[in-house]
Amino acid sequence: MSAREEARDPEAPAVEVVRPEDQFAHLVANVQDYAIFLLDPQGIVRSWNSGAQRLKGYASDEVLGRHFSIFYSQADVDRHWPEQELEIASQVGRFETEGWRFRKDGSRFWASVTITPERSEDGALEGFLKITRDLTERRRAEQSLKESEERFRLLIEGVRDYAIFALTPEGRVATWNTGAERIKGYKAEEVLGKPFSIFYTPEAIARGKPEWMLQAALEHGSVEDEDWRVRKDGRQFWANVTLTALRDEQGQLRGFAKITRDLTERRRIDQLQQADRFKNEFLALLAHELRNPLAPIRSAVQVLSRQSPANHEIAQAQEIAERQIRHMARLLDDLLDVARISQGKLEIRREALDVCEIARRAVAAELPFIEERGLEMSVHLPGEPLGVDADPVRLQQILVNLLNNAAKYTDPGGRIALSVRSEGRDAVVRVRDTGIGIDPAMASRLFEPFVQVERREKRSVGGVGLGLAVVKRLVELHQGSVHVFSAGLGRGSEFVVRLPQVPIGGAVRETRPSAGVRASGRAKRILVADDNVDAADGLKLLLALSGDEVRVAYDGVSAFSVAREFQPEIALLDVGMPRMDGYEIARRLREDPQTRHMILIAVTGWGQADDRRRSKEAGFDYHLVKPVDPAALERLLETIRAKDAV
Ligand code: ADP
Repeated sequence: MSAREEARDPEAPAVEVVRPEDQFAHLVANVQDYAIFLLDPQGIVRSWNSGAQRLKGYASDEVLGRHFSIFYSQADVDRHWPEQELEIASQVGRFETEGWRFRKDGSRFWASVTITPERSEDGALEGFLKITRDLTERRRAEQSLKESEERFRLLIEGVRDYAIFALTPEGRVATWNTGAERIKGYKAEEVLGKPFSIFYTPEAIARGKPEWMLQAALEHGSVEDEDWRVRKDGRQFWANVTLTALRDEQGQLRGFAKITRDLTERRRIDQLQQADRFKNEFLALLAHELRNPLAPIRSAVQVLSRQSPANHEIAQAQEIAERQIRHMARLLDDLLDVARISQGKLEIRREALDVCEIARRAVAAELPFIEERGLEMSVHLPGEPLGVDADPVRLQQILVNLLNNAAKYTDPGGRIALSVRSEGRDAVVRVRDTGIGIDPAMASRLFEPFVQVERREKRSVGGVGLGLAVVKRLVELHQGSVHVFSAGLGRGSEFVVRLPQVPIGGAVRETRPSAGVRASGRAKRILVADDNVDAADGLKLLLALSGDEVRVAYDGVSAFSVAREFQPEIALLDVGMPRMDGYEIARRLREDPQTRHMILIAVTGWGQADDRRRSKEAGFDYHLVKPVDPAALERLLETIRAKDAV
């Protein structure tokens, strides 16, 4: 007997000489964990132990002599359940049940009840022994275990992306979840009990793979595998499989858990990505290797043309070769860029710069081609610098590509407009043309590499469909976006580039003077004279971009009169004009004190030493060869302005 019980019952005698029945009765009376009591044949309570008091809350004097139905709910009493329990016990020899019972205070507990009839030696019923145990705690534990097992089962069964199932120790399918059904194609009833080798390919079975998988799981606890597996319909899928041996606490093998994932799609994507990587590496290498010989070819062409100066055919052939070399270099550059960008190898060097300045350079670079195509170009720039954080070379490339496309896909006589604007937090550049337009269905695909719109009439504009892919990727590298709008075929197109706007500090403008600043400080009056109207207008536009005030003349006589009236600081004179050629104009201007200080630039198709000498003799300060390279012209004007500023 424990110390606690001694303390609770100090009267309780120590082991005493008592009769065994008394000793037993005493023991029973003190049992705490069981309610043990006797009923007479009618169900009247005849004895009551401490356990009964503890469990049911009644003291013995409250229940002794009362019918045991007081422990039952009214509903049970109404259906005479207490009597029936006694009836069954007396007939069968024992009644056992589990169910809710009530304490005196009305609270309930989950009881395990045993009722045993007591009979005299002649078999007459003397009463019943009723033992009740409080199983509330155990029931709660069991219940929560059951619930958690149920939750877990439902969870596993419901998983769709993984086939999760159990195998018996012999390797037969023992459970099946939704994912298994989805991935392997079998329903549970078709597969339970089947050997798991049905999921393997015939070759794997021939090699004994299912068996060694089980063996490996047994030896190492778990084994992982990636290989082909077979669905019910015979199709194969690329699977990642983990097989784990399940052992009980004694280490006895209870079976295996198998988790299978279908990686077919991922494997396909991996393979595609790898192929794409190889393709990009190959393209980059190819473009690089093909571009290398171009520079020596170009020099060779120039050397050849020098061998026979003033030969018109050779000069023309040289021009063609040069143009084609430039075209090819450009294609290869695009190819190299696409490959590099895809490989994440293209680096951009960003700085805060004025997008208007870059737009001017892009227009200047494309103007000769735009003119060659017989197109009218207009440019709208805001009055002040608009800052973006960009790589100047790449930003110019973006705009040049868009202008180049506009020129390629617009028929002669059409118009191209470039505008720069600040919209909200963005700097927005729009390149609009009146050209052949774009089918809206194609619009979003144009930015993919190698995509070109198929046309009935083949245009000999050249290109492989990389320009816009480069544009899009470059714009994205600048955290910007590019979109195309077109009202449809034949109705022109508009490409819109948006870049986040950034403030540009004074430092930027000081170190890299923009045209805006030049316009206010050192802008020039310039005369452009050329009988080729397009060429004259092109140059005018180019110069106007820099903020200069420009007049044009389309023949020698008017050139001379404009020069005298307008008093330009610089005159760009085409040498071969009707009515009065450039040399003549130069000579006359030099003679007149009013005009003799003008800076005169000869523009001619001929760049040989002889030609240069002739123009110098006529009074020209500089000599430019047609078609005028906008960059060269810009450099020349910079030089003139710099001299002027000193
Ligand atoms: P490419 O010009 O070398 O074919 P791009 O990637 O620059 O390649 O352009 C892809 C296609 O988009 C072109 O082939 C053309 O069909 C269409 N496209 C691009 N710019 C324009 C435009 N301004 N107007 C009409 N179609 C255009």
